[in-house]
Amino acid sequence: NRKYHPDDTAIDLGNGILVGGQRLAVIAGPCSVESEAQIVAVAQAVKGAGAAALRGGAFKPRTSPYSFQGLECQGLELLKEAREATGLPIVTEIMGTEYIDLFEACVDVIQVGARNMQNFDLLKKLGRHTTKPILLKRGLSNTIEEWLMSAEYIMAGGNEKVILCERGIRTFETYTRNTLDLSAVLAVKRLSHLPVVVDPSHACGKAWMVERMSLAAAAAGADGLIVEVHNDPPHALCDGAQSITPEQFGTLMDKLGALGACI
Ligand code: PEP
Ligand code: MN
Repeated sequence: NRKYHPDDTAIDLGNGILVGGQRLAVIAGPCSVESEAQIVAVAQAVKGAGAAALRGGAFKPRTSPYSFQGLECQGLELLKEAREATGLPIVTEIMGTEYIDLFEACVDVIQVGARNMQNFDLLKKLGRHTTKPILLKRGLSNTIEEWLMSAEYIMAGGNEKVILCERGIRTFETYTRNTLDLSAVLAVKRLSHLPVVVDPSHACGKAWMVERMSLAAAAAGADGLIVEVHNDPPHALCDGAQSITPEQFGTLMDKLGALGACI
């Protein structure tokens, strides 16, 4: 709450790069970890383009139980290899309380997905049992107040390192996967001291929209971005349609740099 925290909070991703500093921190990587070659190649490419951290899902919350569910523990091992190869901290999603010790041991930033934003038991335990930063995505149909209250659940337990993530909300519109609520960035910056990042990939669901919406997010005052990047989007096991290539990511980073926004 701004009443008690007049100054913005900046959170270290694990490598000294701050989310909530003066510049935009960009987290990038594939929706899912698929193989050693894939994750290491994408990690090297995004690192070369200036990314601050690597994202990659090992445990995937898929709508259908018959879709690829992620490489799970093996995926975490591959993320560790990618971190070793590049020095990039790793950001990955936790699906339940039983994984907290494992994530505490090997992940740099723990992502709480949109579908778990109101899993209050998970939020409470992340507050009490880890000191790692938590990237808290806004729920599919949650208000700004509900989202900030979920952040409070984590902070009330003692972990104040919460990064908010606007990833689009459900509206009547179907052309885009979700509707990117960029005004939420301004709202949470006014109401809260926490940093906020924008996920244009899950918001739009379309790779061709990612660059412009990223630039718009920077203009709106976001502290960072989390962007899906895949070396071969047509063959991605998850979310290929919204994934940009490493080359497109390089162009995006150049344009953010030209805006003066990017780390
Ligand atoms: C993701 O980041 O891969 C993801 C599943 O996102 P969300 O929880 O926003 O749907
Ligand atoms: Mn995804």
